[in-house]
Amino acid sequence: MQHGEPAPVKVQSARPGEAYETDVIIVGAGPVGLFAVFELGLLDLKAHVVDVLDRPGGQCAELYPEKPIYDIPALPIVTGQGLTDALLKQIAPFEPTFHLGQMAEALERRGDGKFTLRTELGTSITAPVLVIAAGGGSFVPRKPKIEGIEAFEGNCVHYAVRQMERFRGRDIVIAGGGDSALDWVLNLQPIAKSTTLIHRRDDFRAAPHSVAQMRKLVAEGKVRLEIADLKGLIGAGGALSAVECHSKERGGYKIPCEELLAFYGLTMKLGPIANFGLNLHENLIPVDTEKFESSEPGIFAIGDINTYAGKLKLILCGFHEGALMAQAAFRIARPGERLVFLYTTSSTDLQKKLGVA
Ligand code: FAD
Repeated sequence: MQHGEPAPVKVQSARPGEAYETDVIIVGAGPVGLFAVFELGLLDLKAHVVDVLDRPGGQCAELYPEKPIYDIPALPIVTGQGLTDALLKQIAPFEPTFHLGQMAEALERRGDGKFTLRTELGTSITAPVLVIAAGGGSFVPRKPKIEGIEAFEGNCVHYAVRQMERFRGRDIVIAGGGDSALDWVLNLQPIAKSTTLIHRRDDFRAAPHSVAQMRKLVAEGKVRLEIADLKGLIGAGGALSAVECHSKERGGYKIPCEELLAFYGLTMKLGPIANFGLNLHENLIPVDTEKFESSEPGIFAIGDINTYAGKLKLILCGFHEGALMAQAAFRIARPGERLVFLYTTSSTDLQKKLGVA
């Protein structure tokens, strides 16, 4: 965090598996999706934001949280996480509803013209406007190259933690050396029956204070650290009984466990949006530059996911696209209502919405 950056903002995710109705659905909680909440909020449009990651910030929070960005207007220097926290603070007055840790999977246009978006956790959200702010696509986990791993996935092999309680009283093995692996060692160790961390070398990419905390738990005998390669899984019927490892010193050996959590990083793929029925050009969504609307009326695409003549994949361009999209979204969500152009500096109405007047 750079000096003067806002404190981290904790975001609550709505209950999965429920049906929701709102003005605008936003797919993608990257910087562009977050700023769209602000522009929509100024026009009294409520937004629900869906992201497959379990925290907002998109590429900024996931790929370069501690790197400084130098080309955000009026912020000479801000880190990826600092920008995310500032955006979350800026949109807080509009109380967006987040649906995190779930892939936006299927889209249906209803008879009344509204869209219903369904997620992999059974959440459904209905709205007259859909905004795709999916960036470079959804982040998907890199999987360990282990034969037969699919048979355990969704059961005893995990690439994300959806519910911590799932691991209470269990013998868990966590594989990886980055922030996710270390964060989950620290978070799950107090509730798991036993916690083992496997990493191929005794050198961790995670934040130094997390590494120090992990080493303290190892010294106290609360976490077992194995410097080894993960080679195989042993179990039957989708239930895990041990993982197979290999190290130079010990050769092949087994670690008994019931759950494996592998955090080998993420890659980006367009994913289910390819099946939303939109025109695509090289996995991007072509849009006009007046409203940033796609080939399907009512579906907008902003940020890195869209393409048009002169497009630059910059955060500031995505912010501009969000502002123009919001004007068009208003006309769809509030047909017949007058849209008045107002400045935040001089409109008490806008200032009331922002909670400052
Ligand atoms: P993203 O940040 O990609 O967020 C999209 C979100 O959508 C992701 O969280 C993803 O999980 C989610 N998503 C996608 N599909 C689905 C789905 N089906 N269901 C649920 N969720 C989904 N830009 C600058 O302007 N200045 C810089 O200095 C700069 N430096 C950079 C440095 C690096 C190392 C990188 C990698 C990028 C940099 N960028 C920079 C680019 C900038 O990060 C992107 O332009 C910006 O993140 C795009 O924002 P976005 O909101 O459009 O998409």
